[in-house]
Amino acid sequence: MNKKKTIDFISGPCSFESKAQIEEHFKQFPSHTWLRAGVFKLRTNPQSFQGLREDAIDDLKELKERFKFKLVTEVVSNHSVDLLNDITDVFQVGTRNMYNYELLKYLNNFKQPVLLKRGFSASLNELINAAKYIDDSEARVILCERGIRTFETSYRNTLDLNAVSYLKRNTNYKVIVDPSHGTGKTELVSDLAKASIVAGADGLLIETHPNPSQALSDADQAINHQETKELIKELNELSNFLKKDLIV
Ligand code: PEP
Ligand code: MN
Repeated sequence: MNKKKTIDFISGPCSFESKAQIEEHFKQFPSHTWLRAGVFKLRTNPQSFQGLREDAIDDLKELKERFKFKLVTEVVSNHSVDLLNDITDVFQVGTRNMYNYELLKYLNNFKQPVLLKRGFSASLNELINAAKYIDDSEARVILCERGIRTFETSYRNTLDLNAVSYLKRNTNYKVIVDPSHGTGKTELVSDLAKASIVAGADGLLIETHPNPSQALSDADQAINHQETKELIKELNELSNFLKKDLIV
């Protein structure tokens, strides 16, 4: 019998800011499997919050033991991989580092899956070639469409849903979509999340925050916990229709 296909719902704050922030997340979503939370942040403006970095490790370790979640977090250097290795279930490589082939090769010293984001000006061919730097890449790499830079300035990025359909039809990679960075606008996130699933995505990466206006990074695109609950409800209906299981 064919195993039912799954849709992974990965959510959490852009940046890990405090223990209280994650406690609130699990108060609202006690059974969440996947948490995203940035520890090392690559910011356009060097004056902007750069992440809690080394200071985050012990707190995240303790939170993982308490709430039993799996952590997806971005690595930006060999040093950050070493630091995060013990507490990370999926290493995220961000849009700025898709072309950092030395970092990709370094990840071959570790066993966790790699969530590889598309560079914001990268062709799909470049994305697929970057993935091949990871050993056993089709089993270990999850490709992530997170929006590309176009002439359109009404939103932060243009989410390329063609990419989802194309990659699903022409490669064997799992493909997930990040409509938070793909739009940069809170009010667009839910619509594009649903559209991504219809286009064939295997999962979503969503920025959610207990109090979006206070977020230390990407405040304009975070959805709040109530909006997250509504989105999960709609995605459950959509998954039933598509005969897939939503893993939240
Ligand atoms: C993030 O996920 O918070 C992030 C920085 O993503 P990207 O690399 O796609 O900008
Ligand atoms: Mn972000």
